[in-house]
Amino acid sequence: MLLKLSARYLCLSMLASTCWLPAQAAPAPTVKSPKVVLVSIDGLRWQEVFHGADPEILRNSHFIRHADQLAELPTKPQQLMPFVHQTIASQGMLVGDRRRGSAMQVSNPWHFSYPGYNELLSGFPDPAINSNGKIANPNVTVLEWLNQQPGMAQQVAAFGSWDVLPFILNTERSKLPVNAGFAPMNEQMAGPLTPQLKLLNQLQRQTPSPWAAVRLDVFTQQFALEYLTQKKPRLLYIAYGETDDFAHDGQYDQYLKAIRRTDGFIKELWQQLQSDPFYAGQTTLLISTDHGRGDNASSWQHHASGRAIAGYMKKLKNFVNGVSGSDQIWLAALGPQIPARGLVQTQQPWSQSQVASTVAELLGYDYQAYQYKAAAAIPLGTADEATVQLADRRIVNPADGTGSAPQQSTALTPQ
Ligand SMILES: [Zn+2]
Repeated sequence: MLLKLSARYLCLSMLASTCWLPAQAAPAPTVKSPKVVLVSIDGLRWQEVFHGADPEILRNSHFIRHADQLAELPTKPQQLMPFVHQTIASQGMLVGDRRRGSAMQVSNPWHFSYPGYNELLSGFPDPAINSNGKIANPNVTVLEWLNQQPGMAQQVAAFGSWDVLPFILNTERSKLPVNAGFAPMNEQMAGPLTPQLKLLNQLQRQTPSPWAAVRLDVFTQQFALEYLTQKKPRLLYIAYGETDDFAHDGQYDQYLKAIRRTDGFIKELWQQLQSDPFYAGQTTLLISTDHGRGDNASSWQHHASGRAIAGYMKKLKNFVNGVSGSDQIWLAALGPQIPARGLVQTQQPWSQSQVASTVAELLGYDYQAYQYKAAAAIPLGTADEATVQLADRRIVNPADGTGSAPQQSTALTPQ
């Protein structure tokens, strides 16, 4: 006790930002042997997640490559993301519908991918991460930290479509098993290759990708599912990428189709988890994104803050004040530790930086005890945030559909 008091006194006498106290034990998980699958869908706007396709963008032939197939496009929320709206909305929780008093945002000052993934995975915004370059992340992610905890060694793995993911997770230092970009699955990660993995490697090699740095998500999906079957990690991270790239390409119809496919991937993933006794009833699914996008029909392709545009993203210089909406994100959660709250109304916007501590807490670990800069876990199960009431709209996004004036589209660095 004396030691504890001394530590507290010492802490009070120091700058808050450098203060460290013995950690409180994380709340006991409500399941016996918890597992977590964290999913990110790159650059998927909350506007499509909650409200479906934007009619104004659909009307712009510039953004629709196959106008003859317009009637077949999934446009309503239930058509675009049926798993999210049927299963997660009724059995889990959703955050980020700003038209209904529910908001989440990034805390980093840049509003593009690497800074977003760093914040999501390390638990704090790092202004020094200001490019999408293949630079080994100086920050330790919650994946790396958990992989070093008792009971979690060799229990963490990651799959991604973007070839920068191994750098974000700093595989050189972390030694995390990561399969991303166009890398084939290898025996070092998966053990002896199954016929399924050999076929996936062959198909990946023989299938053209529309993009130089991002593979089609079907490979990320199928590699991850096979790994899940064979290796059964307790924490799996899957980073889908197609949505962002089709959006940057200005192909709204392909963006919508990618959203629909990704929802299907997540349903497939959930069904596999529920059919496996190792995971069934013990696994929490968290889904979010690395950044938002422009909030109107002229800016939806892009995302960046004004500060980013003054530097790394200077190709977007027409958006002098940044691309409005790029910091707006969303989250979905499903599983035995997630109460069926539906859309959660937020008093203050939740932050991307809360996800890392949330992942750890769901597994029974206190990430803030290690990383004092990490934001606190999201209060997933508490009642301090009322479930949304349609009459009470405290957070409204007036810019939605009526934001900045139309601006010239420009090509830019993806992600
Ligand atoms: Zn992007």
